[in-house]
Amino acid sequence: METTIQIKPSEIKFDEKYGPFINGEMVEPVNGYIDAVNAATGEVLSKIGRGGKEDIDRAVKAAREAFPGWANTPIEQRSALLSKIADVIEENQERLKLIECMDTGRALHEFDLDYQLVISQFRYFASAIITYYEGASRPVQNGYLLTKKEPLGVCGQIIPWNVPMIMAAAKVAPALAAGNTVVLKPAEDACLSVMEFAKLLADILPKGVVNVVPGIGGEAGQALIDHPDTDKLTFTGSVGVGRLVGRAAGDKIVPVTLELGGKSAHIVFPDVDIDPAVENATLGYTFFNGESCVLGSRLFIHDDIYDEFIEKLIDRAKEIKIGPPTDRSTRLASLINEKQGKRVLNYFEIAKNEGAKILYGGNRVTVPGHEHGYFIEPTIIEADHKMRIAQEEIFGPAVTVTRWKEVDEVIKMANDVEFGLAAGIMTKDLERALDTANKLEAGSVWINQYFNFQTGAPFGGYKNSGVGREHNKEALDAYSQSKTITAGFQLPQPGLYK
Ligand code: NAD
Ligand code: MN
Repeated sequence: METTIQIKPSEIKFDEKYGPFINGEMVEPVNGYIDAVNAATGEVLSKIGRGGKEDIDRAVKAAREAFPGWANTPIEQRSALLSKIADVIEENQERLKLIECMDTGRALHEFDLDYQLVISQFRYFASAIITYYEGASRPVQNGYLLTKKEPLGVCGQIIPWNVPMIMAAAKVAPALAAGNTVVLKPAEDACLSVMEFAKLLADILPKGVVNVVPGIGGEAGQALIDHPDTDKLTFTGSVGVGRLVGRAAGDKIVPVTLELGGKSAHIVFPDVDIDPAVENATLGYTFFNGESCVLGSRLFIHDDIYDEFIEKLIDRAKEIKIGPPTDRSTRLASLINEKQGKRVLNYFEIAKNEGAKILYGGNRVTVPGHEHGYFIEPTIIEADHKMRIAQEEIFGPAVTVTRWKEVDEVIKMANDVEFGLAAGIMTKDLERALDTANKLEAGSVWINQYFNFQTGAPFGGYKNSGVGREHNKEALDAYSQSKTITAGFQLPQPGLYK
């Protein structure tokens, strides 16, 4: 969805501050504010509430109070409101894209894909909920058996900074569709688009149905997972924090959905047309600035074409335009912050120390006027698949390249990681592609087109990449519980227990 951006970055007006959004309005946080920063320039764009225990408690109470009303809102009406949310995001997308671009440092053109997914999530769940309540009912002896779905209650949802609105949509849309109310904790590093989204919701949803409490992970996030009155926890982010969320859910005996990143293999068979394959591989490791849980960060290239492929991969990397995020022709822009930038650069040191070879890139680049930002060259690293650089999530525009000869061998290497979120395969031989896809331990496998997201298709991870699926009807299951009602037409005759 290519849209012509007419708004200029300088025309974006931020609110002076964004407090927690509770019970339909922005309120004052108990512990003051923290700066919301332009990732590339360091400019303070606005302030966001530093949410704490008291704010979370207020938000959970508001969500609890709103729950019965929302749960009993007819599904046609809930569906209509979700469609309206999609329409309103669509109308406001240019502005939201620019806000998110400045906040995250990612290149503006990428947000066309982000918002296409955001809007389609709301449209999908608006439709899906209509066909969801197909509870089986049947006559039984002396009566009738009914089964139905009910919402869980108040959902605590925590999202990361890389794709803030995709994350918000994937969590909020199914929860609301199923009749739940929400307390959402967006990431401290980028949440201005989510706060603006909350303001749009104020005119659509009843008060308290969605509450958004910004703040630091160890404060607002921890308070949310520790709160005794939530009925479901959902999280996307690092494995370490995912474990904390899972433990908190275990303590409270509430269901949990986790999406925890990846280290996805992208396998190149020898029969491919090399130029388009190089293009697809490049997109796979550089889109989202490389800050993506589904990044195609491990390229396995067949021995027959390895040398030519690598040469072209390097040539293609040289062409990638690194520049200001708000410039529509930029393809690679600034990482989220210094911490992430240093983390990525440190991984390149780790790679060198363990004997991997940096074939291209590996450096920070300065973009005039954006000296604050961490712009990192697209980086190609020849590595053994067992090395840390090929095993751990880097979350930057970097790819390891590894040679393979036998299919069984490459499948074994591809699966030999803790993660299992996504994978890619490139070949003209569909039989070979599908056979390989069957054998890969990954929740999504993209054949001949990386990042081929389809709303309505399950998304989630094997192994340490998480628990549960989003983007499809399984998400409705994850935000619902089933009830069986067995109705007798009359009381049994006395004497049953004699
Ligand atoms: P993180 O897991 O710390 O943060 C994700 C979210 O969890 C944020 O909203 C954060 O505020 C919150 N959080 C942090 N500590 C918490 C706690 N104790 N209790 C509750 N919530 C808490 O991720 P990060 O530090 O921003 O990034 C570190 C690495 O994680 C990245 O380099 C990347 O490898 C990975 N990551 C993965 C994804 C993904 O999409 N799966 C997204 C972001 C980061
Ligand atoms: Mn920011």
